[in-house]
Amino acid sequence: MAIRNIRVLGDEILTKRAKEVTVMTPKIKELIGDMFDTMYEANGVGLAAPQVGIRKRLVVIDCGDDPLVLINPVILETSGEQSGQEGCLSVPGKVGIVTRPNYVKVKAYDENMNEYTVEGQELLARCLCHEIEHLDGKMYVDRVEGELMDVESEGE
Ligand code: ZN
Repeated sequence: MAIRNIRVLGDEILTKRAKEVTVMTPKIKELIGDMFDTMYEANGVGLAAPQVGIRKRLVVIDCGDDPLVLINPVILETSGEQSGQEGCLSVPGKVGIVTRPNYVKVKAYDENMNEYTVEGQELLARCLCHEIEHLDGKMYVDRVEGELMDVESEGE
């Protein structure tokens, strides 16, 4: 387990399409553990492999319920709409308003390469959409309505 370096906006890898994972290996298992460590250390709720410099279709998410590992995730269904603040560990210190579906259903493989589906609403739906877009080299900053804003400092 280790903390990996998070790539930031401007890094080319964040613009590339990531590749399918075809077989689980000890190296990928280690990557998954490192991604959780890195996400928790940065107080994030989701992290995609390209954000730590790995071009694989792999995402980890923890919105406060169960930690999720999503390998080769595909959005099957969306419905509704939500508009709210969104941030990204690759765009530190900034947030912006983004409209997303309020519900999504996603198919993915878990860390044992077993297929499963997960349904998310509100924050989890937003997070699933955001992270899956990273796998296609897309960043939320291109969807922001209005301008990126500085995260309000928490004061002392
Ligand atoms: Zn992000």
